[in-house]
Amino acid sequence: MIYASNFKTNNTRAYTKEYIKTLDKFISKNSIKDEIYVFPTATSLDIFGDISSNITIGAQNAYPVKNGSYTGEIGLEQLDEFDIKTILIGHSERREILKESQELIAQKFDFFKEQGFRIIYCIGETKEIRDENETMEYLWSEFEGIDLGYEKLIVAYEPIWAIGTGVSAKKEDIDEVLSALRVQVKSPLLYGGSVKSSNIKEIASIKECDGVLIGSASWKVESFCEIIKNGQNQ
Ligand code: PEP
Repeated sequence: MIYASNFKTNNTRAYTKEYIKTLDKFISKNSIKDEIYVFPTATSLDIFGDISSNITIGAQNAYPVKNGSYTGEIGLEQLDEFDIKTILIGHSERREILKESQELIAQKFDFFKEQGFRIIYCIGETKEIRDENETMEYLWSEFEGIDLGYEKLIVAYEPIWAIGTGVSAKKEDIDEVLSALRVQVKSPLLYGGSVKSSNIKEIASIKECDGVLIGSASWKVESFCEIIKNGQNQ
């Protein structure tokens, strides 16, 4: 399984350091073999010393340039400084709140693919799209300009209506979407949207689910560790 924690705009650099140390201890002590990703804020991008080889620190976002005049953005040079080689692209909050177009998203994808980054690429439909029974059509449109054959791609299906609400999508609904995606997507498939320690077992048991992308329930390290622990042996 893959367990990915998206901090969004939460946690300080000091807490991130403590978080990664605690997480690392938990992973070693319990001989966890899963792939673990942590996406802290841009100001906390660091590996903070030696960590288990199955823990990867990634960027929530970056601009598709080495460096330059893009006020407020970070580029490849800043990621390289901390040996960051993993990035989230297409998260619904960047699409909706930051108004990232599919064109810019595809541009970011191409740039970081050229740089050999592992890319966790997010897709997800709104409640309206779902109510109109247009989920799959919409999800495929979010792959426009994206190379599904990229070997370092991981796809995260995150229905927007389930993000941050505390109410995850139902097992049957996740199963249906991931199975439909699987026809064309050979990369690992994650589910995201109100994953927590009480529903991880059920979500991890879904046939095509290779892991989870977690927001709110992963911001405290104890809670993230509990999710990883409860997801064992699926
Ligand atoms: C997310 O935004 O990627 C997410 C899955 O958030 P939450 O777990 O809080 O629903």
